[in-house]
Amino acid sequence: MTRALYDDDAYRREARASVVATYPGAIELDQTIFYPLGGGQPGDSGWLTAADGQRLRITETRRDKANGSIVHVPEGDASIFSPGMPVKLEIDWARRYCHMRMHSALHLLSAVVRHGVTGGNLSDTAGRLDFDTNGDMLDPNDIEHELNRLVAEDRPITNRLISGGELAAQPELIKTLSVKPPMHLPSIRLVAIEGVDLQPCGGTHVRRTGEIGALRVAKVESKGARNRRVVLAFAEIGS
Ligand SMILES: [Zn+2]
Repeated sequence: MTRALYDDDAYRREARASVVATYPGAIELDQTIFYPLGGGQPGDSGWLTAADGQRLRITETRRDKANGSIVHVPEGDASIFSPGMPVKLEIDWARRYCHMRMHSALHLLSAVVRHGVTGGNLSDTAGRLDFDTNGDMLDPNDIEHELNRLVAEDRPITNRLISGGELAAQPELIKTLSVKPPMHLPSIRLVAIEGVDLQPCGGTHVRRTGEIGALRVAKVESKGARNRRVVLAFAEIGS
């Protein structure tokens, strides 16, 4: 298993690691700051540089379904790196930071719209959540106003690890969770937005809601009789 450095510090833009293995179109390292595609958040892109200066652009990061390791997908030939080789890692920080802001915005959205979430996705410019509203209409202006109020309040966003057993022993905590946690895992990462939201999540988030910046509801659309899709964008883009 690759050590996931982004779990402890989502703000790390650079790190050092060793090559564990290379495959056609994939590089495995002992540790990484590259977030792998998952939970609706895209995998990171960036660069890997060897001590001799050879450099590969990484266009995608994902988790190997078979063994759980994180694989970095290069633009060029992965075999220019070999096992044991030290490499410098740099992520495309501008893109990742937008993912962190939009991901955190979706946590706010899940708290503002009081219906069950049935799906979601995000990019560096937009994000969406689907809600089972049982056919109820959602008002985009109300949602946008509430979101921007929570952004302006600059609330802290923190995370902590908890075991399934510890969680089960705290029914009050489970009651406040907006998403049901995977209780079978040895540790569950809980992400809290102070006074707003608490949910299990493995993604990367900003430290305070103020970092998200102003948001706008780009659209609310019907997806079938029961479901409504809310699409968010950063207010500074295309508004
Ligand atoms: Zn999250």
